[in-house]
Amino acid sequence: MALVREQLEDLLSHIEQSNPSVDLGRIERAFALSASAHGSQLRKDGTPFVTHPLAAAQIIVEMGMDEDSIIAALLHDVLEDTGITEEEVKKLFGPSVTAIVEGVTKLTRVQYTNKEEEQMENLRKMLMAMAKDIRVILIKLADRLHNMRTMEYQAGKKQLEKSSETMQIYAPIAHRLGMQKIKWELEDLSFYYLDRAAYDSITEDLAKRQETLDRFMSDVQQKMSGRLRENELQGTVYGRLKHIYSIYRKMYTQKRTFEEVFDLCAFRVIVSDIADCYNVLGHVHDMYRPVPGRFKDYISTPKPNMYQSLHTTVIGEEGIPFEVQIRTWEMHHTAEYGIAAHWKYKTPGPEGEKSAGDEERFAWVRRLLESQQEAGDAQDFFHDLRIDMFADEVFVFTPHGDVINLPAKANPIDFAYSIHSAVGNRMTGAKVNGRIVPFDHTLQNGDIVEVITSGTSHGPSRDWLKIVQSSEARNKIRQWFKKERREENVTHGRSAFEAEMRRQGLSVDAISRGEVQEQVLKRLGFPSFDDTYAAIGYGGLSAQKAVGKVRDMLVQLAKPSKSLVEKINEQKPVATKAVKGIVVEGVDNCLIKFSRCCSPVPGDEVVGFITRGHGVSVHRADCANYLNAITNPAELGRWLPVSWGDTEGQNYSTSLVITAKDRSGLLLDIAQALTAIKVRVRSLTAREAVGERAVVFIALEVADSKELQVAVNKLSGISGVSDVSRSSS
Ligand code: MN
Repeated sequence: MALVREQLEDLLSHIEQSNPSVDLGRIERAFALSASAHGSQLRKDGTPFVTHPLAAAQIIVEMGMDEDSIIAALLHDVLEDTGITEEEVKKLFGPSVTAIVEGVTKLTRVQYTNKEEEQMENLRKMLMAMAKDIRVILIKLADRLHNMRTMEYQAGKKQLEKSSETMQIYAPIAHRLGMQKIKWELEDLSFYYLDRAAYDSITEDLAKRQETLDRFMSDVQQKMSGRLRENELQGTVYGRLKHIYSIYRKMYTQKRTFEEVFDLCAFRVIVSDIADCYNVLGHVHDMYRPVPGRFKDYISTPKPNMYQSLHTTVIGEEGIPFEVQIRTWEMHHTAEYGIAAHWKYKTPGPEGEKSAGDEERFAWVRRLLESQQEAGDAQDFFHDLRIDMFADEVFVFTPHGDVINLPAKANPIDFAYSIHSAVGNRMTGAKVNGRIVPFDHTLQNGDIVEVITSGTSHGPSRDWLKIVQSSEARNKIRQWFKKERREENVTHGRSAFEAEMRRQGLSVDAISRGEVQEQVLKRLGFPSFDDTYAAIGYGGLSAQKAVGKVRDMLVQLAKPSKSLVEKINEQKPVATKAVKGIVVEGVDNCLIKFSRCCSPVPGDEVVGFITRGHGVSVHRADCANYLNAITNPAELGRWLPVSWGDTEGQNYSTSLVITAKDRSGLLLDIAQALTAIKVRVRSLTAREAVGERAVVFIALEVADSKELQVAVNKLSGISGVSDVSRSSS
C-alpha cells in the first residue's frame, strides 16, 4: 500500500506543478473511488490494480490534460471491471467525466482481430468515431501505453496479440494525433514482442557502438552549444539515438544492413522564439556542410498533425550525416504531445462567459485546414477528424470481425446489402450484439451485426426503400423489384412502344422481321426486345426515345420491301385495277392473286406473300402453308400485312370438303341444297373413300365468309354428312 500511496503523492505533486488550477481534492476522491472499487484486485505483476489507473493518470498529466481527463483516467476501468455504475460516477463526478469513462469502456469492448491493412484503417476510424471526445482516445492511449510497459508479466500469446494491435491501431492513431513521444514508445514496445530477434540484434549493434556514438553526440552537442553561447542565443542542444523501430524500418524499407544506416542519431536545438530558430539554422549550416535537398521548413508550413520544426541534414566531421531539428519550446511540446498540447479544455468561467469551449476546441482543426500543403496525408488526417466531429459514418462489425463502414443512422438492412445483395434479398431478421432487433434499428459504432436469412430469396419489402440510409441498399432493392416485375414491365413496355410506333406512322410489324431485328436491337442497345420493353416498362427508357433511336432505320428498311413490290409490278404490268378487294399496306395497284391452297374469302384474316415475279399472293392467316413458311427466317421478310378493301359485287372462289356416309342420291342432295341457297357451284366431284365413307369436293364462289358459312351449315344438315370443312392445301 505504501507503493500506491507514493504513486498517488507523485501524481498530485506533478499536477500541482503543471496545472495549479486543478482541484486536488477531486483527484483524491477519484483515486479513493477507484482504489475501493478495484479493491483487492491485483495486476499480473502482483501490485494492487489501482496502480494501473494511477499510471494512466500520470501519463495524462504529462500530456498536459485537464482535470476531467485525469479523473476519467483514474476511473477508466471501473465500469468494465467493478460493480460501480454510471449513475454513481455521474453523481460523484458529473456528466463530463462519466461520458469520457463510458467512451473508454466502449473502446475497450471492441474486439480486435488481425486483418489486412484496409480493415485496420477502418478499425482506427471506428475507434476515432466511437470516441467522439478526443480525450477518450488520449486516455485509451495512456491506458495502452502503461499496459505495454508492463506487458512482460503477460503470457506470450497475449503479448503478441496486444503488441500487434498496438502496432497496427494505437501507434498510427498516436501518429495521426501528432503524439510522437507516445508513438515511438508504443512502437518500440510492440516491436520488442513482435520480433524479438530483430529488436535484440539492433540493440546489440547499438550497444557495440555506444561509446563511439556517445562521443560523437557529446562532441556535436558541445560544439553547437558553444556556438550558441558565443552568439548569445538562448537554447538547449541535445543529441539522441533514433528509436529502435525507426532504425528497423529504415533497414527493412531501404534494404540496408545496420552498418549502412548512417543517421542513427539526431540532434535537437530548442530555442525561445521563431526568429532564433532561423538564426540557429544559419549557424548550423555554417558549422557543417548541409546535404542538398534535405532542408525542410515545417515552421512556415506545419505538418497536418500540427508538427512544426526546421529540419536539416548536415555532414559531420567524420563524414557522417546527421539530422538537426530546430524548434521553439512550444513547438517541442506540440511535437511530443500533439493534439493533447492543443486540447485546452475550459471549465465555464465564473461570469458564465460565452462558451469559448467549442470554438477553441475546433480552432486547431481550422488551423489544420488552413495549413493544408501536404495533400495526401493531410486529407486522411482530416477525414478522421471529420468522422469524429461530424459523425456522418458508422462503423460496425460482421460476426467475423470485419469492419463495415456505413452512413450514419444506417440499419441492419443497409448492413445486409453492403455484404451482398443476396444477403439483403434473403434477410428475414437481424441481431445486434446477439439480440434480435427490428429492421429499422439504428446501428451504433462497434455493434456486431448478424443477418438472419432464409434459404430462399423471398425478396425485400417495398417498405425497406423508405428506411434504408445507403444508396447502395436502395439501388439493390430497386434492382430486385425491376427484375421481379419483369413480366409486367415487358407487357407495359411493349404496348407503350407499339403505341409510339403507330403514333410516328411506323408499322409495328416492321420490327418483327427477322433480318431487321438484329440491327434494331443493336441500335437500341438491348440483347432482346423483351429487355427493351422491360426497360421501357420500369421507366429506365422512354418509349419515345426508344422509337426515336430506330425510326430512321425502320423508314430506311421499309423502302426496299416497297421497291421490291414495285419491281414485281413492273415485271408484270397489271391491267386490272382495284386488285380484287385486297389492300396491301403501303402499296397501290400491285398484282394480287389468291392462293389455291387456302382460297381466302372476304372476312377471313389474310396475309400477303411477295412471290418471285407473280405479285402478291394472298393466304388465310390460318393457312398451313403460311404457318409453315413463317418458321423459315429467310422468307420472313417476304410476308407483309394485307387487308380486305372494297369487295362489293365481287365473288371469290373457294372450296369445301364434305365427308359423308356413302349412299345413293348424296350428290343430288348436295346439289339441291346449294341451289336452294343460290350458291354458284363451279364443280362437284365425289371420290370413294375407305369403307362406306364418301368424300366430296366442291369448288364454289361466294361473296364473303358469311355466305360461305351459310353453305357449310346447309350442307351439314344433309343426311349422312359427318363433316364440312374448308380445304387448306
Ligand atoms: Mn486500463
